Amino acid sequence: MDIVKSLAAALLWSAQASGVLAAPHVHGVVALDVALDGSRVVLSLKAPLDSLVGFERAPRTDAERRAAADALARLRQPDALFKLDPAAGCRRVSVEVEAPVLEARAGPGVAASGADVHAELEAQITYDCAQPGGLQTLEVGLADTFKRIRRIDVQVAGPRGQAKTALRGTARSVKLGR
Ligand SMILES: [Zn+2]
Repeated sequence: MDIVKSLAAALLWSAQASGVLAAPHVHGVVALDVALDGSRVVLSLKAPLDSLVGFERAPRTDAERRAAADALARLRQPDALFKLDPAAGCRRVSVEVEAPVLEARAGPGVAASGADVHAELEAQITYDCAQPGGLQTLEVGLADTFKRIRRIDVQVAGPRGQAKTALRGTARSVKLGR
């Protein structure tokens, strides 16, 4: 009874947090939105779980649990993943990571999910910058840490409008300014 209840709650939560998707995403492709607003920089990341840990369901084995915990830990302490210009004096003020599927406990019954179920991780990281005029580039190290990432679709929105770019291969730098 309890298991059924908590599973239902977990599924509902997943759907609400868009952890489980009806429409498939593309494995290997992650989306990164960069919003520049005065002294604030907000990074919003949306990644298929496959691109981070290689599976898109609750972890079942010790190795999968380690992979999930490791991915969550790296995103919650993201200083190695995202680097803003030191000259801008940016301080990280918050990190929110949502990956309900990774944090769910897999019981024997959970394995029944269909092959077409996809799941994602969403993260939002906010910085406050003392010298926002010094913001020239964002270095994105995601693909160094998560080897399954093939492309990062970046959208930058700031006072000068919007710009789209894609990071592939060894490309790591996103232009932020002028
Ligand atoms: Zn998927």
